[in-house]
Amino acid sequence: PKRANAMDAYWMPFTANRQFKQNPRMVAAAEGMYYTTTDGRKVMDGTAGLWCVNAGHAAPRITEAVQKQVTELDYAPAFQMGHPKAFELANRLAELAPGDLNHVFFTNSGSESVETALKIALAYHKAKGEQGRTRLIGREKGYHGVNFGGISVGGIVNNRRHFGSLLTGVDHLRHTHDPERNAFTKGQPEHGAELAEDLVRLIDLHGAETIAAVIVEPMAGSAGVILPPKGYLQRLREITREHGILLIFDEVITAYGRLGRAFGADYYCVEPDMITTAKGLTNGVIPMGAVMVSSEIHDAFMTGPEHMIELFHGYTYSGNPVACAAALAALDTYREEELFERAASLEEYWADALFSLKGLPHVKDIRCAGLVGAVELEPVAGVPTKRAFDTYLRAWDKGAHLRTTGDIIAMSPPLIIEKREIDELIGILAESLIA
Ligand code: PMP
Repeated sequence: PKRANAMDAYWMPFTANRQFKQNPRMVAAAEGMYYTTTDGRKVMDGTAGLWCVNAGHAAPRITEAVQKQVTELDYAPAFQMGHPKAFELANRLAELAPGDLNHVFFTNSGSESVETALKIALAYHKAKGEQGRTRLIGREKGYHGVNFGGISVGGIVNNRRHFGSLLTGVDHLRHTHDPERNAFTKGQPEHGAELAEDLVRLIDLHGAETIAAVIVEPMAGSAGVILPPKGYLQRLREITREHGILLIFDEVITAYGRLGRAFGADYYCVEPDMITTAKGLTNGVIPMGAVMVSSEIHDAFMTGPEHMIELFHGYTYSGNPVACAAALAALDTYREEELFERAASLEEYWADALFSLKGLPHVKDIRCAGLVGAVELEPVAGVPTKRAFDTYLRAWDKGAHLRTTGDIIAMSPPLIIEKREIDELIGILAESLIA
């Protein structure tokens, strides 16, 4: 036989699953805050899947909507037809989105949302006759998915170093993580807003007329929950606006209530020109993403024969009816269960629970915002990632699922979490941090 048992099948290339055979983590079911493993154990989901199951697993309304939609209208090609749920969803997203972001491009993932936004940025400038604006600026430590555009603007070097030169004309702003000055700051770091001036350096270097867009995660998630210093995003907004450069917020993690508001843009009070989303849009049930843009950006290339270019863009599954039904039901659930407000009301309790870990063995920094938290550990000398990964394995055995990135443990529980479950989650992490 080609394979001896289920775990020999090579479907799972993710590095986080190294040691998977020694420490198999196989799940058979999930409901609310908990996974059930194939051997019948309950494990609390401390990460909402991969930052996506905001309403908890198997949220009834979403499950029912998906079941119903599959039987009613399973598919309609968006290149040739519309269907009511796609329009309804677009309208709902436009209502939810900040400022004048009222046009939506549907995608199937966060990575696709990023590629879409980057293409839109280039198309917009071209349609306005600003052909020279082709440069893109990301940020060190930024994560924007795994496709070519996303790894080019992304600032996690390991993700792109094997793939040659990628997109040309890409620069990265200096990252904002300053553990020396900001360790153990609850909420936004006090120091570091001046790092936004790095954008001025790039403008001086290349000329504003060559720069199409700046893309940043308002709160960098995958690199280990790196919060923007106070005033940083506001300053990026000022500089980009002054120089006609588009500002894209990659909100694949921060959208749909993670920070206690619909979007990170609301939480940090900054209006970008475009927002990329995915994950929580459907509560993780069906793959779907959405890019939100202003009418001005949309109209520049989509309406009227007088415009210079027409953007050919879209996917086979754009606006898939089942995905739209899942997303509408997810948005209904978020609204009716007031989950964004719930996340906001738990923010302080969550922060206090996390900060109770200060002083425990090897805890080097704690960071938090909304219902996101990170505990950074001192690495084991010469073996980076080992401390956090061993802690993660111990927590799994004790009944909690966390996430690690380097020696940072990240948590982002479903927004339905109760206070006693916060205590349980943080309690398990505390027990898993051994001297
Ligand atoms: N952008 C950000 C900010 C993300 O966090 C992620 C996923 N973690 C992505 C893009 C990529 O999303 P996906 O894995 O759905 O392609």
